[in-house]
Amino acid sequence: MDMKRKKTREVHIGALKIGNNNRIAIQTMWDRAISNPQEVIRSIYDLASIGCDLIRFSVENADALTPLGIIQEHSPIPLVADIHFDHKLAIGSLEIGIPKIRINPGNIGAIWKVEEIIKSAKDHDSAIRIGINGGSLPVAYRKIDDRVKGMLEIIDSYIDMFDKRDFMNLVVSMKDSDPHVCYEVNRIFADKYDIPLHLGVTEAGPLIPSITKSTLALGKLIEQGIGDTLRISITGPVRDEIVAGKELLKALGCYDDGIRTISCPKCGRAGFNTHKFIEEIKDELEKVKENITIAVMGCAVNGPGEASHADLGITGLGNEVVIFKQGKIFSRVSKEDAKKNFLQELNRIIDEKTDN
Ligand code: SF4
Repeated sequence: MDMKRKKTREVHIGALKIGNNNRIAIQTMWDRAISNPQEVIRSIYDLASIGCDLIRFSVENADALTPLGIIQEHSPIPLVADIHFDHKLAIGSLEIGIPKIRINPGNIGAIWKVEEIIKSAKDHDSAIRIGINGGSLPVAYRKIDDRVKGMLEIIDSYIDMFDKRDFMNLVVSMKDSDPHVCYEVNRIFADKYDIPLHLGVTEAGPLIPSITKSTLALGKLIEQGIGDTLRISITGPVRDEIVAGKELLKALGCYDDGIRTISCPKCGRAGFNTHKFIEEIKDELEKVKENITIAVMGCAVNGPGEASHADLGITGLGNEVVIFKQGKIFSRVSKEDAKKNFLQELNRIIDEKTDN
């Protein structure tokens, strides 16, 4: 799909560039303690290997700064420090080299405290995200019909504050748990400003409700060229947020890379358990960077035919499985050997693509 992105300012977060025509960056947020930096760094490498571009950490007190500095030093992707209330924590995060902080100026307090944060971000060449959520608006705006208006009025005043201090390395987010509010507030904002937007439906629920709501709001925005980074907020594993973000961007035609999966839901005709097989190979698939379409089909009646454009496919045939390429049967193996043979063939295709 030929999708025209809305032109926004380029913002840099360490080596990562967002806005302008840069790829939409996928973010997540760390969900545990950081007392063991080595363990966190290992997890970040894993998340980066499946497509995570940026990871945010809550900074609750000054004790978090030392481990956070170590994590940033060894992380393959930039970190974002999420700060509420305490401007000293924001400045402390910038001083240890965190390339982006997220604040809500409304809860930082006096304006001179925000000014000090802006000055420090300039000194350290870091980015700031102003993030406001519908749920934390003043009481006068809490009703659903008032939240769009409320967020836009408040964000106008914050942007004015940053503009007057000539701070350009700025990102904005306006999130809500209602996807319609999210859509509307970001659509109106994007018409008025060229500041990069971080998109997300906040507190979106467990996997299925979250993906449904996020796709509704973010899908419509991204199709209109709006959005420079995103997070699919899930009450569940952090890894799922990255996978969901990537799948959304692939479905929208924004990402060329990675596996496209065709798999049938299986029915009474199935001679092969597609659910189990997908579960067994999903970790391997998430790491693939090459643009490859695979098919996992339950029966040979419909399988190879319906997935004839897949680079690689598998389906049940009696007590065995057949592996096919572009609709043509390539080999026939026992069900026990299905995973090994399928992944072997997938790796061969990846090698061919890498060599070309
Ligand atoms: S491919 Fe075969 S098993 Fe899968 S849903 Fe279709 S008919 Fe059923």
